[in-house]
Amino acid sequence: MLVIASQTFINKPLEYSAGPAARLGIVAGEPWRANRGGQILAGLKKTIVRTGLETLYFSGLHHWMRPLVGGVGAILTLHHVRPPRDDAFQPNRLLEISPLFLERLLRRLSRSGLDVISLDEMHRRFISGDFKRRFVCITFDDGYKDMTRWAYPLLKKYEMPFALYIPTSFPDRLGELWWVALEAVIAQNSRIGMLINGKQQFFECDSVAEKRELYDAVYGYLRSMKTEDELRKLVRDLCATYRVDIASFCRELCMSWEEIVALAADPLVTIGAHTVNHMILKKVPSDAAVRAEMEMGRSVLEAALGKRPEHLAYPVGDATSAGPREFRIAAELGFKTATTTRPGVLFRAHRDHLTALPRISVNGEFQQQRYIKVLMSGAATAMWNRFKRVNAA
Ligand SMILES: [Zn+2]
Repeated sequence: MLVIASQTFINKPLEYSAGPAARLGIVAGEPWRANRGGQILAGLKKTIVRTGLETLYFSGLHHWMRPLVGGVGAILTLHHVRPPRDDAFQPNRLLEISPLFLERLLRRLSRSGLDVISLDEMHRRFISGDFKRRFVCITFDDGYKDMTRWAYPLLKKYEMPFALYIPTSFPDRLGELWWVALEAVIAQNSRIGMLINGKQQFFECDSVAEKRELYDAVYGYLRSMKTEDELRKLVRDLCATYRVDIASFCRELCMSWEEIVALAADPLVTIGAHTVNHMILKKVPSDAAVRAEMEMGRSVLEAALGKRPEHLAYPVGDATSAGPREFRIAAELGFKTATTTRPGVLFRAHRDHLTALPRISVNGEFQQQRYIKVLMSGAATAMWNRFKRVNAA
């Protein structure tokens, strides 16, 4: 099962001792791997995880466990929605699902008897203790253009409310989508040089397998850095050396202010804050800077939309990206709710942790309705969280 499976993986010795991971000092099983890019379970051996989800599904165990672990509702996390590409090297594929998969998911939700509600309504239910009906909230992070093109028409068709969390540097065209830039650098080159601890090191990445391995290793190396500044500097240096225009991804992939303003006019849409610069807040040393990121992001959205955002999502959002300090600051700033990407469903007890809410990631590597069913039943995440309902530490 899931917990046992992940444990097995974590305790496994490094199998590629001379590979890029070892040379970058990256150890398999580091916490971020469990939740890469805010994605549940990715980075663990996919087959093992899949087996865990399959076991829960086909044994019917998830159904049996639901009264125990099902909670009062769930918040879904989505990023890109677009037709699949067939490139062999797509390390960020977990961040996208196909329009067809989304349509099936929405159809299932509309027939499920669950209430699909806005974040405001979720907040109201928590505050008033109204848990008569189980609910689902749908959230999209980062504000990608493909969301407007492929997901929005479907959400309209099924009349489902949803939230968009916008980092304001993205429509300002100052955002650095460093995980996409890293993908481009590795995709376009067969050998990469990097300054590691003051020493130039070279990594071969000619084959797809090498590219995948190198991406994971460098991603891990970046995530292990102490500060966001160091992380960004390394990616900027790589982009400069290998002539990748990091600003271009923001222009190509992210919604403009006009597009956001148009969407925000729809009563189905809630615009939530997602800071200014999409930094991993735990890597930001000062409390004041964390506060400024959250507060400024909200103010810029308020100025653009004429409405003050009352909900927040922490960038990246796993346990290594947002913790008690961030939860406290979001509460002090008066956000009604703030969401992480820690995996989990919602329980009544989350009423006391409304700025540390877990979500269920709709992961591109697991585009099977039955996986979503198991995840939303709460069974898989209960095992993941070792049956602890609230994880806000
Ligand atoms: Zn984000």
